[in-house]
Amino acid sequence: MTDTTTLNNTLNIPTIDLPRVVIIGGGFAGLKMARLINSDEIQTVLLDENNHHTFQPLMYQVATAGLEPDSIAYPLRKTLKTKKRTHIRMTKVTNIDFVKNMVHTTIGEIRYDYLVIATGAKTNYFGNKNVEKHAMPMKSLTESLDLRSLILQNFEKALTQSNEEEKDSFMNFMIVGGGPTGVELAGAFAELKKHVLPKDYPDLDIRRMQIHLIEASPKVLSAMSDKSSNHALEYLRKTGVNVWTDTLVKDYDGNTVTTSKEVFQSKTLIWAAGVTGNIPNGIRPEHLENNRIIVDEYCRVKGLENVYAIGDVALMKTKESPRGLPMLGSVAQQQGQYLAHSIKEQLKEKTVKKFKYTDKGTMATVGRNLAVVDIGKIHFGGWFAWLTWLLVHLMLLVDFRSRLVVFVNWIWSYINFDRGTRLIVRKFSKKPDKSVSQKEELVA
Ligand SMILES: Cc1cc2nc3c(=O)[nH]c(=O)nc-3n(C[C@H](O)[C@H](O)[C@H](O)COP(=O)(O)OP(=O)(O)OC[C@H]3O[C@@H](n4cnc5c(N)ncnc54)[C@H](O)[C@@H]3O)c2cc1C
Repeated sequence: MTDTTTLNNTLNIPTIDLPRVVIIGGGFAGLKMARLINSDEIQTVLLDENNHHTFQPLMYQVATAGLEPDSIAYPLRKTLKTKKRTHIRMTKVTNIDFVKNMVHTTIGEIRYDYLVIATGAKTNYFGNKNVEKHAMPMKSLTESLDLRSLILQNFEKALTQSNEEEKDSFMNFMIVGGGPTGVELAGAFAELKKHVLPKDYPDLDIRRMQIHLIEASPKVLSAMSDKSSNHALEYLRKTGVNVWTDTLVKDYDGNTVTTSKEVFQSKTLIWAAGVTGNIPNGIRPEHLENNRIIVDEYCRVKGLENVYAIGDVALMKTKESPRGLPMLGSVAQQQGQYLAHSIKEQLKEKTVKKFKYTDKGTMATVGRNLAVVDIGKIHFGGWFAWLTWLLVHLMLLVDFRSRLVVFVNWIWSYINFDRGTRLIVRKFSKKPDKSVSQKEELVA
């Protein structure tokens, strides 16, 4: 097998006499697959619009000044540096032509033998344009940093406000969505309020800071057991979070939040209420259900022999999960691992087994010594659950350096009741027409 023959495409990928797998997306699913693929028998092309993989479960800690972004993001090139015949291109996929087996990107096009769509999910505003325009999402590293800047800027502004209502509205934080992200974010805000902000802003009465968690369903952490959900609610209330269940956000204009129960004045509404599939152009409507790509139990897109979808973007219905497997990192990683193996088996013309998801449990933390864990029929909370949460998240981080940095940060925070990274590295401001950040001067 020779490695280089010709460079016949605009992405500058060598054409060799091996089948080519093009993976779109270097997230949990795509990166896992790229790391495990048999590169002696397959050429891999990984396309991602970012040059890094993000460990999304800890993004809330970046947003609340607990961790620096480089502790939870890794350059794709570093992660795959030892992988042979693996080519990474930083580009956005603009279209897929399933007839010609071509992927079109912002820097050119590439032919595939096998295509793997692992483009993840994006924030779902459920059609509420005002909320989309004014709320803060938290689905990428950039958005987490924007949020961190906004939170800190709000306190700087509150400090000099003479109008008391305006002052309160800068210190009023609305979090929408009582899933793990909303709950963890609310808990982190409560810790900031209790341990950090009173020392940073002695001139402000931090007791006036309000944290509201709004959830449309009757309980928080609704995907977890009733016991864990009740524990989480109790922990949140104990730490001073105002929890509003059975409450719908109807409108937000950047100042006033209108819900089905109350009206709040707040400069910050964080939207953690849902995600939807990130569907590349070219996917036909018959391949979609609930804005996710329908796949069979081999991760194959219905009706397309050599096209697969894995991770959040894929909708795989199984006997155990008739509405589809959940949009979780564990599902994405297991599918990435499965498909790397499955394609190898196909090339050897072996019989390929169906994908089987192993549910290793779910967990969420509300803060120091407070977490909930469900593992099968076992449900526990409190300190031991918190320790379990810490260890599991440390182990899930991609490399040793990140584990060490995060571990040291957590120990430091635990001992000192402090958070290390309260920097406004670049100011955040919303453009008048769209909620896109403008990067201003460095003020670190
Ligand atoms: C705040 C937050 C907290 C979470 N907490 C947990 C948790 O505690 N436990 C858990 O199991 N799960 C958690 N999740 C869910 C978990 O992160 C996802 O299930 C997982 O990331 C899905 O992996 P994926 O590979 O499908 O997508 P992603 O990891 O999102 O990766 C998708 C990749 O595709 C790239 N991409 C997208 N479109 C294009 C395009 N057109 N062209 C090129 N590249 C493209 C993106 O840049 C990205 O790198 C959380 C998610 C969020 C947002």
